[in-house]
Amino acid sequence: MIEALSPRERIDGFIREMPKAELHVHLEGAVLPETLLSLAKKHGVDLPARDLDGIREFYTFIDFDHFVRVYMKINDCLVTPEDVGLITEELGNEAARQNIRYLEVTISPGTLVYIHGMSFDEILEQINAGAERARTKHGVRMQWVLDIIRDMPPHIREAGAKFAIDAMDRGIVALGLGGTESRFPPEEFTDLFRMARNAGLPGTPHAGETAGPESIWNALQLLDAVRIGHGVRAIEDPWLVEHLAESQIPLEISPTSNICIGVFDSWEEHPFRTLYDAGITVTVNSDDPPMFNTSLTQEYRELVDRFGFTVPELEEITLDAVTHSFLPESEKRAMAAEFRSEFAELRAKFGIDVD
Ligand SMILES: [Zn+2]
Repeated sequence: MIEALSPRERIDGFIREMPKAELHVHLEGAVLPETLLSLAKKHGVDLPARDLDGIREFYTFIDFDHFVRVYMKINDCLVTPEDVGLITEELGNEAARQNIRYLEVTISPGTLVYIHGMSFDEILEQINAGAERARTKHGVRMQWVLDIIRDMPPHIREAGAKFAIDAMDRGIVALGLGGTESRFPPEEFTDLFRMARNAGLPGTPHAGETAGPESIWNALQLLDAVRIGHGVRAIEDPWLVEHLAESQIPLEISPTSNICIGVFDSWEEHPFRTLYDAGITVTVNSDDPPMFNTSLTQEYRELVDRFGFTVPELEEITLDAVTHSFLPESEKRAMAAEFRSEFAELRAKFGIDVD
């Protein structure tokens, strides 16, 4: 019975069932340990462990270098374009389980082009096929942010940006920038992002995660970013905080990822609440969920437990993700209206009073 639930349990029920939208999750970083194991067996790829418990342990975050090793091992196991289609479908299944209705998924096909010699075209074809299967089964919708990996050779980075522009009619909605931010600053990518922008493809680079505020400034001024992946280190520069609040450039924040990677030493130091209170548009995201042992649902719980967010605030953060997504305006409005009415039903169901 709902009546027997504590206030915290009611909020938990609300979070579990609320409709959600996610703007920052990596396809390759969302591969489940069991899938990695079966792909490795299928292709005879050596993994550091042969059973599920061992793979789970391998996934456990230790430090950034280890994280990159896990990430590269996942890419080693994605040998065929069909494998990429499979993990896309599985991401859609998992999204449905959490009632995530819409996702802008970051894909980094350049890595697969580079290590397996696949073509961008065949990768996207399978990703779209996997997404279509998930949509048919669950109604989950996914679109793609094509990430240029900073550490890749220049010809792969350029090919990725050109392909993203070419594939704007096949679900690619933005150009992203990932990889080692501290070694490859935004200014090295000005030409690629300018080319994309001129073609009508917006930019949402990672910035202000492992490098400081200057990286965010450059992402805004040189890459013309319309959203920022992470952006949490804006907190180090009051002028930047003010600028982000005024310009309403949203941050795609992934709190657990930030803590695991060590962007902040503790939850107490994480600036999610401070950025929100400063008037910046913030969204909540899971980044690479199994690698950080999290989920989008879990990230919402952290907002309540660590930062004291209330149900109306969680609703607002969710609606901001819809508003700042790359969906067409009419679809955003329809989705926001749908979410609002479901929020009201769920408040009633779980007896959540807001005055
Ligand atoms: Zn990311």
